[in-house]
Amino acid sequence: MAFCKVGGDTVRHRSPTPQNHGSASLSPHKQGTKQEDMGSLTDTVALDTLGCKLNQAESESLGKRLTDIGYTIVDPSERPSAYILNTCTVTHVADRKSRHLLRLAHRRNPDCLVVATGCYAERTPQDLTQMPEVDITVGNSDKARLPDILKDYIHRDPQESSHPSIQRTRSFIKIQEGCDQFCSYCIVPFVRGVERSLPADDIVDEIRRREDDGHKEIVLTGTRIGSYHGGLGNLIQRVLSETNVPRFRLSSLQAQEITTNLLGLWQDSRLCRHFHSPLQSGSDPVLERMGRRYTTADYESAIDQIREMLPDVAITTDIMVGFPGETDEEFEESYRFCQRMAFANIHVFQYSARPGTRALHMDDKIDEAIKKERSEKMLRLAKETAHSFRSRFLERTMDVLWEQQVSKGIWSGLTGNYIRVLAQSDKQLTNECFPIRVLGLNGKYVTADLPYS
Ligand code: SF4
Repeated sequence: MAFCKVGGDTVRHRSPTPQNHGSASLSPHKQGTKQEDMGSLTDTVALDTLGCKLNQAESESLGKRLTDIGYTIVDPSERPSAYILNTCTVTHVADRKSRHLLRLAHRRNPDCLVVATGCYAERTPQDLTQMPEVDITVGNSDKARLPDILKDYIHRDPQESSHPSIQRTRSFIKIQEGCDQFCSYCIVPFVRGVERSLPADDIVDEIRRREDDGHKEIVLTGTRIGSYHGGLGNLIQRVLSETNVPRFRLSSLQAQEITTNLLGLWQDSRLCRHFHSPLQSGSDPVLERMGRRYTTADYESAIDQIREMLPDVAITTDIMVGFPGETDEEFEESYRFCQRMAFANIHVFQYSARPGTRALHMDDKIDEAIKKERSEKMLRLAKETAHSFRSRFLERTMDVLWEQQVSKGIWSGLTGNYIRVLAQSDKQLTNECFPIRVLGLNGKYVTADLPYS
């Protein structure tokens, strides 16, 4: 998700002759404008991310590289010199959110260089280059070169940063990218390309660097990490034996990728008992039309096995409602299956037609009002099952990695099995990890008693 501004009378200074930046493009309406000095700009960059954990991993690594070369990462509200949005295009809602955030960045600070990158920028760069608020559009293929592109466009080397970089307890690391599955509704293979895995040596080195930076939880992420070349299990074994990070979490695994051997690795308590396995539908005919490579029976058997081997595990999922041709009966079947699976959380999406996908040409598109109704019903179920999962831990002792103070004296952290915990403390808790007792339930959170408060 990414920056530069020309709007009204304001003109951004950029390299008179931008170098060849591959898929990076300057908005046409900004070409050939009179340029002014950028001396008033400081070297601050705000970075927003939409979409999946892979995008988060890429934004994190981009933020780190920008910090390394002297930029300071700030909040978008702090009038940065540049605003980068790592966009998502998985649904038309994601497209809309991307455009909204880019406009907002410009409205907040018309002098800011507004950069769009990510999947939307890859799929239809022209949508973004046409926006008067967007100065530069950079596709996924050139995302890694954004720091150089940024330096060239703002025509100035950043100064040594006097601000500490934003410290996070959790860190996302990309281990793989791309997907060869081409599910019938999905735009991702078109914007992320074929499956590629990063070398295990590089991944281990990167984890060690994050460990040296003090990160206590690493999330291994990618488009489809279960297809990691050389075996995901082998990679996990290596990172467990060659690094000392206290917690590892996987972003997502498909049901057919979950095996007894893989689950055996979770005997190491550093692996979080949390599996996100996208189901998409609990109806076999719908799964078949979606081009998913498992049945509900396969899915259930994988989840049963996880639960048997790993008590207290959190299973979370994605469900799509309103896929073309989804009948009332199929939706009800999906609903009942989700009920039975008792997920710790469900991300509910309404089907959104994406250009280039097979589902776009399928008959029997579902009416928007019906999609909304199904989505609301599924969301109510998600709330119930999540509440029931969290209730199981009342009065139990759990390890929490504390992240940040969300309001005065109130701290927020995560358990290994992905329960958000709030607790009161006058102490600085960021990046501390220690056991707490769960006291109560509060909406999407549990509340806790700290050992020393
Ligand atoms: S597995 Fe299917 S849904 Fe997931 S990224 Fe690949 S094509 Fe898209």
